[in-house]
Amino acid sequence: MGKEALILVDLQADFTQVKNGSLAVPGTDEVYLRLVEEELRRAAMRGLLIFATQDWHPPNHISFYTNHPDKRAFDIVQLEGREQILWPPHCIQGTEGARILVDNNLFMAIVKKGRDPKYDSYSGFRDDGGKQTELEAILRYHQIQRVVIFGLALDFCVKATALDAKDLGFAVTVVKGLSKGVSPETTLEALKTMERAGIQIREGIEF
Ligand SMILES: [Zn+2]
Repeated sequence: MGKEALILVDLQADFTQVKNGSLAVPGTDEVYLRLVEEELRRAAMRGLLIFATQDWHPPNHISFYTNHPDKRAFDIVQLEGREQILWPPHCIQGTEGARILVDNNLFMAIVKKGRDPKYDSYSGFRDDGGKQTELEAILRYHQIQRVVIFGLALDFCVKATALDAKDLGFAVTVVKGLSKGVSPETTLEALKTMERAGIQIREGIEF
């Protein structure tokens, strides 16, 4: 079955209701946070490696609507032929909004993404310009073959990270019960896309 690792995606203050985040995902309350942390602790006790991704943008990041004259939050623009949703400013490097809300000592590594002002990066593996993060190399170093992915948001960064993991040859499970999506429609669509790609969707972590 191969060596397994968990990847927690973007569980950051700006994406949560608990912290009144600028881009809060529905359902990210105290109960959700506690559930995720409990599951991570359980996995850590079993000796599983846990990694996290962290959205980590400079203030002049291209995904912020405030950096585009006359645009509003959630407008869609074309950038080099790619569709880009313009988001409210979020997860700015070194701010409270960028903090990961569970015990950071649970993670073997935290991989930052979206650092280049010119490119967005939903995926924890690479940005929209194709530049890779350290995530794949770290997983390979630890001889990981199977990844279990969950976090925020299921229909954006969890999806992109899971699809890239699958493309890179990892066996991939996404834990729906430990993830939250921005909207019901895009969440349903994301689940279908991931299933079609051969990603397993589970309600909880199965040890
Ligand atoms: Zn972002």
